[in-house]
Amino acid sequence: MSSAQPCIHCHQVTGRPVMVASVEQNSGAGWAGYACPPCARHYRTAGDLAAALAGHRQVCSHCHLTGADCPTAAALREAHEHAAAAGAER
Ligand SMILES: [Zn+2]
Ligand SMILES: [Zn+2]
Repeated sequence: MSSAQPCIHCHQVTGRPVMVASVEQNSGAGWAGYACPPCARHYRTAGDLAAALAGHRQVCSHCHLTGADCPTAAALREAHEHAAAAGAER
């Protein structure tokens, strides 16, 4: 059920959406959306993405049983690699 989603950052439709979310500090209003793997690093840190991937693999029957990445895990892994590479550049 991994459907394509428009990226909230670059507005390109991506077949590997990564869920990102934010909460406004003042109003308490929040939003959730999807970003493509290269853009997810603007919303989530490399550490956060690594934790999300590790947590996903513990609860996802596909990842857990087959040891291979499902589309969600593949998107998180790709997003983490982008975030880690961007962090290493600084
Ligand atoms: Zn994007
Ligand atoms: Zn999975």
